[in-house]
Amino acid sequence: MSTLGEHQLQSGSSLRVGLIGDPVAHSYSPRFQQAALDALGIPACYELWRTPAPQLLERVRSLCEKSCLGANVTIPHKEAVLPLLDTIDPLAARIGAVNTIVNRDEYLHGYNTDAHGLLHALHEHGLGTSQPEGRISLKGHTAVLLGAGGAARGAAFALIEAGVERLIILNRHLERAQILAADLQQHYDFPVFSLSDPAFLIPHPASLIINATSVGMHEDVSPLPAEVLAHFDSDTFVYDMIYNPTQTHLLCQARIMGLRCANGLSMLLHQGAQAFTLWTGQPAPLDVMRASLLL
Ligand code: NAP
Repeated sequence: MSTLGEHQLQSGSSLRVGLIGDPVAHSYSPRFQQAALDALGIPACYELWRTPAPQLLERVRSLCEKSCLGANVTIPHKEAVLPLLDTIDPLAARIGAVNTIVNRDEYLHGYNTDAHGLLHALHEHGLGTSQPEGRISLKGHTAVLLGAGGAARGAAFALIEAGVERLIILNRHLERAQILAADLQQHYDFPVFSLSDPAFLIPHPASLIINATSVGMHEDVSPLPAEVLAHFDSDTFVYDMIYNPTQTHLLCQARIMGLRCANGLSMLLHQGAQAFTLWTGQPAPLDVMRASLLL
């Protein structure tokens, strides 16, 4: 793990790191990343860099400046940045998405910290066991993943790497779920099932349900019908990656049915903590970051 270079610290208060995406104004990242930088006395400013697609190349090139630690990357650029970087971490390459870029001596390195963020969030909520080198094991768990977009890709690779026993991907467009399942099976000797009709989940209850769709973000609707959720065991854990709103329809349904559940703030925290360590080489001050998110 690299630490802040001499040349970077010599640039004093002009160090920068930021979020590349479009839109970015809604992001919580400046709030907790700036709190972490300040807590450790790192003279850097976390900025919002709204970047329409035609400006992506220029924006990524600007990360090579000595004063720049790197960036987070969000919708819609997580896949498009890959060919613009010097190296890609193997997990990010398998997932096909980068959400963190680190500038080391003017070379840009890409990582995916969403996968780490999800597993550490689940562990914080009492799932899985902690392994050497900070790995989380989900051995013994069976998972239903709702969605097959960018966030679902990271989650699917994370769940298999963590050793889940079975993975079922449910997506509105079946073909997208099938493509993700095929990509997973190129890397792992592991059976992945894909569905588009939630009713087919009923004979296959799982111990973990993860919502990686955007359903529930803008409207009070659930990606899983209540009558399907009602067939899951009472010890099922429901994780909704959505954190704004904090209470989605899915989480309300889960609570009413007495299931354990949590929203995506904990994933946001842990993906950000790993990014912070990659940029600075220092352990992230989790308590400071958590407090600034009001977790
Ligand atoms: P994305 O690539 O655009 O994928 C969207 C997913 O939602 C697809 O599976 C899509 O299904 C599904 N979907 C959208 N509208 C739908 C509808 N009306 N009915 C059924 N399915 C629908 O987005 P993403 O980047 O994966 O993000 C997904 C969610 O994860 C967002 O809410 C995002 O905020 C959240 N997220 C949270 C964190 C965190 O740290 N907590 C990190 C990353 C993402 P189709 O393929 O059928 O269109």
